[in-house]
Amino acid sequence: MNSKSAARATVYGYPRQGSHRELKKAVEGYWKGTVTADALRQTAADLRKANWQQLVADGIGEVPTGDFSYYDHVLDTTVLLGAIPQRHRASVDADPLDGYFAMARGTQEVAPLEMTKWFDTNYHYLVPELGPDTTFTVDSSKQVSELQEAVALGLKARPVLVGPITYLLLAKPAPGVAEDFQPLSLLERILPAYAEVLADLRAAGAEWVQLDEPALVQDRTADELDAVARVYSTLGGLTDRPKLLVASYFDRLGDALPVLADAPVDGLAIDFTGPAAANLDDLAAVPGLRGKRLVAGVVNGRNIWINDLSASLSVLAQLMGLVDHVDVAASCSLLHVPIDVSAETELDPEVRPWLAFARQKTAEIAALATGITEGTEAIAAVLDANREALASRASSPLTNNPAVRARAAAVTAADGRRGASYPDRSAAQQARLGLPLLPTTTVGSFPQTGELRKARADLRAGRIDEAQYDERIDAEIREVIAFQEKAGLDVLVHGEPERNDMVQYFAEQLDGYVATQHGWVQSYGTRYVRPPVLVGDISRPEPMTVRWWAYAQLQTDRPVKGMLTGPVTMLAWSFVRDDQPRSETARQVALALRDEVNDLETAGAAVIQVDEPALRETLPLRTAARAEYLAWGTEVFRLTTSGVRADTQIHTHMCYVEFGDILNALDEMDADVASLEAARSHMQVAHELSEAGYPRGVGPGVYDIHSPRVPGTPEVVSLLRKGLDAIPAARLWVNPDCGLKTRGWPEVRDSLQNVVTAAQELRTELR
Ligand code: GLN
Ligand code: ZN
Repeated sequence: MNSKSAARATVYGYPRQGSHRELKKAVEGYWKGTVTADALRQTAADLRKANWQQLVADGIGEVPTGDFSYYDHVLDTTVLLGAIPQRHRASVDADPLDGYFAMARGTQEVAPLEMTKWFDTNYHYLVPELGPDTTFTVDSSKQVSELQEAVALGLKARPVLVGPITYLLLAKPAPGVAEDFQPLSLLERILPAYAEVLADLRAAGAEWVQLDEPALVQDRTADELDAVARVYSTLGGLTDRPKLLVASYFDRLGDALPVLADAPVDGLAIDFTGPAAANLDDLAAVPGLRGKRLVAGVVNGRNIWINDLSASLSVLAQLMGLVDHVDVAASCSLLHVPIDVSAETELDPEVRPWLAFARQKTAEIAALATGITEGTEAIAAVLDANREALASRASSPLTNNPAVRARAAAVTAADGRRGASYPDRSAAQQARLGLPLLPTTTVGSFPQTGELRKARADLRAGRIDEAQYDERIDAEIREVIAFQEKAGLDVLVHGEPERNDMVQYFAEQLDGYVATQHGWVQSYGTRYVRPPVLVGDISRPEPMTVRWWAYAQLQTDRPVKGMLTGPVTMLAWSFVRDDQPRSETARQVALALRDEVNDLETAGAAVIQVDEPALRETLPLRTAARAEYLAWGTEVFRLTTSGVRADTQIHTHMCYVEFGDILNALDEMDADVASLEAARSHMQVAHELSEAGYPRGVGPGVYDIHSPRVPGTPEVVSLLRKGLDAIPAARLWVNPDCGLKTRGWPEVRDSLQNVVTAAQELRTELR
């Protein structure tokens, strides 16, 4: 039992959007000019107030402030520190709100900040741009006023900030600054800025301030750890400051743990879930924690499963033996989960009690805090219900499908290997396909037009029936095929018009997956996604894509690629069950996809592509864990694709591949052809692959689909020449760097025509 004071329940952040995505509507309305700045501010203030009151009603004793954002909390930190990129200064000075959105989204004249993934989550932040000339000028107004709002409501509130180490480590050199500039070299300059923010927050009534340092759960050099020590001895040594709580999450702290334990800060918030569970043993080995407040993240803040409350109570009990004061929290901000399970009225009633979204998680945190303060008798009913739900989940036929389990258990290493070697396959495929040198293709999707979206909406609303919907899709396929034939592409695609989303489309057709109605989570800015949930054992009741592929192939004599989403990506963009290793879930998905691959082959497909754009995204944060991940990640890809004959050509596609560890993985996947996103790195990936001795077909993108710009033929020719320096013409494929679904038809037509013309020009030279 906590000897000194009651354990407090807290969280580090809450979903910002509101239960009806009010924030999205208000922000987008502001952009369109239909919502005034004042109305937007009012909506935001109402949402903050509603969230805090909800948290308090659910038993959270100390609420976070400053976690709210119109777009992104890292961008908010950039504004807080006055690290506005030069090109955005004028617009920020003219109108801070418009300038803020200009940094986030760009304008006609000025490019936005770059966006990238927040650690290994699906949330994207705006990358700070720093250089040797960066100066920091503090503007604490947002943090201060949000704290004051909470204080005015009579709440105990704790401002949450991105910490200085993480802020600098997430930054990149500003445009024009040398590539090797180290943002961490700005440490001495950024510390006074943080000191000023802390003083402002203390003056506004903050007893505690939380500094988030998730960057400390990645491998850090000795110099970086020295910087951590310097930062926190400096900030801890300030006289005019609130109490400091340094938070980390997503993985174990490792070598950073003793550094933080030694630092003169008042509390640590530590993750004890998932791979971060190792923090428990690590903590037992560090002295220096006595006297500090420990906020224990025992409720997983990024999955949607109910907590095992008894297991958490036992972790908390062990922690109370190590430190003087333990509080209870989610492992990270609840930003990464949807708001409320009780809104899911259409969910299978068997599954609903197994799920916990933000509201349910806050209730769990509150119950655990009560449990360790007053004793487990005080939460006996909650514990009983929790045990019952866990037992129902563990024993349900949904999570224990004997046929799926038996099949997965019977998989042998040989099942995950093509029968023939690459040279033999390549010869057999060339005999079957008869492709020219520098074969041209696309990555899969063609523009998702307004008409397609309308057809889907019409089908949902019952304005058209399935047959009418199918006819609209067929018409689109005919058009896409006709265009590709006319443009002169060699390996065609059906264009994916029937797919709303490359994961959801398959999730809806696989048994064991469930969809939510309102399970929105922020991906970036006002973009929210509704990830499907891998609830049970996965199987495929019937073919998912064969019908569309077959229709497309009927329209043409050229080969049409079958097109599937790979198992690692299916997991990466879903909520994944936590009651078995991810590798096991991936294997079940792979076996279901393998059936689809084999059915496509039987239907006559000579080329089948299995996309793994997310392989790199879910790479573990700690290098030590990466080999194991890549081993199963590539194994399940092979399991998906190796049931086919030698003369069936397997393609894959990956985004962002300029990283060494992924090149090895690509080799392990053993695909016959890989299209890669590389337009921005100018064929560098071709050279890296050739240096690594990569033996198979590869298509580094020659058309950057992230921009509406049409690449000219000479530009594509010159890129291909660079590619040919590294890869022979028979193995060098010519394709855009990703799918075309977000682009418009006019630019796609011109671009693809130029791409084909470029390939044809070089072919005549090569003959
Ligand atoms: N086949 C998919 C498409 O073209 C691949 C998308 C992706 O890489 N994200 O849309
Ligand atoms: Zn891609």
